[in-house]
Amino acid sequence: MALIVQKFGGTSVGSVERIEQVAAKVKKFRDKGDDIVVVVSAMSGETNRLIDLAKQISEQPVARELDVMVSTGEQVTIALLAMALIKIGVPAVSYTGSQVRILTDSAHTKARILQIDSQQIQKELKAGRVVVVAGFQGVDESGNITTLGRGGSDTTGVALAAALKADECQIYTDVDGVYTTDPRVVAKAQRLDKITFEEMLEMASLGSKVLQIRAVEFAGKYSVPLRVLHSFQEGPGTLITLDEEESMEQPIISGIAFNRDEAKLTIRGVPDTPGVAFKILGPISAANVEVDMIVQNVAHDNTTDFTFTVHRNDYHNALQVLEGIARDMGAREVIGDTEIAKVSIVGVGMRSHAGVASRMFEALAKENINIQMISTSEIKVSVVIEEKYLELAVRALHTAFELDAPAGKGE
Ligand code: ADP
Ligand code: ASP
Ligand code: MG
Repeated sequence: MALIVQKFGGTSVGSVERIEQVAAKVKKFRDKGDDIVVVVSAMSGETNRLIDLAKQISEQPVARELDVMVSTGEQVTIALLAMALIKIGVPAVSYTGSQVRILTDSAHTKARILQIDSQQIQKELKAGRVVVVAGFQGVDESGNITTLGRGGSDTTGVALAAALKADECQIYTDVDGVYTTDPRVVAKAQRLDKITFEEMLEMASLGSKVLQIRAVEFAGKYSVPLRVLHSFQEGPGTLITLDEEESMEQPIISGIAFNRDEAKLTIRGVPDTPGVAFKILGPISAANVEVDMIVQNVAHDNTTDFTFTVHRNDYHNALQVLEGIARDMGAREVIGDTEIAKVSIVGVGMRSHAGVASRMFEALAKENINIQMISTSEIKVSVVIEEKYLELAVRALHTAFELDAPAGKGE
């Protein structure tokens, strides 16, 4: 008998009919004798709807109150799923994050899980019940409701699986696994049977929203066997694995990730003196803005240009800070650009192959796509390009790295 944590995402619980389908699926596992803990998201669109409501009151709603509100989305689906299970004869009980006591820090809207008290869940499982837990939410030490950031139900699932020492954490969603790139953008994308934690972590942090970054981090740290599967279609899905052995035979690139959520800022004509990067980025970081890619140009006339990217939500804030810095430093000008996108190729196979980056640049050059910024690490190369070329770039790279599904497959 196994203990399995199953997480169902927003589209999979997007209507009463779907919730009943999920209940039927859970019943199948339970009938085999497995102990099941189910984590659910809010119905698709619900979290956005709630955030929009808050924004009608204030452009920057008080984070504590926002959490109180958005956590209700998941509270609805846990109760509906528990009802649907009970209706088909499966004993079930629902719990919110604070009832289970998913203890988090107090960083509202992006809280981190500190500890999970699994006693209550164990007790319910022993009593033969399926336990349905609300994803995306927890409670801080003072009893305030917190949420874990967008896509956070994945993290709830993995964290529960770690706390309960589950045999597997299954992430059920609206695609049948992790693909070489978002199958909604590239029709020829292929499902991967396996992907290493390291690669999945890069893919997630570079924009592939199929799994939340923290969920992958958690699964790697606690060695939780993690699988991504389709909610309503049979299939093996994708196993996220620690095992890198087979990567020798794997393609150099496992996947292509992309992100439209960034914006670029350039400060031109700053004096090229020691400490200049700190003078620019110190105040940016003090304003709580995270910086992603950074480029400093070669000095010319003792002045230089300095460019960096931030999350698009932080763009206006960063621009304001940068304009202040430019005045103080006597810089020539500040230029901002929100119409950029980041495209990244990811693969552990890169470690043992040279020339991967140039192959990427060649593929983009052939499409006449200008590269604005480049950053590399051991297992990824990222470039910033004009946003309007994003889909073209992803498709071109997918073909150039021989990731396209053979004709007739995956279309
Ligand atoms: P859920 O609501 O179940 O959490 P998400 O929308 O968060 O689902 O994640 C699933 C979506 O992730 C897919 O519909 C797909 O468009 C997108 N996605 C992005 N990159 C990938 C990828 N490499 N493989 C599979 N899906 C991806
Ligand atoms: N409902 C939350 C969101 O939309 C959490 C999740 O779906 O994982 O971000
Ligand atoms: Mg998700």
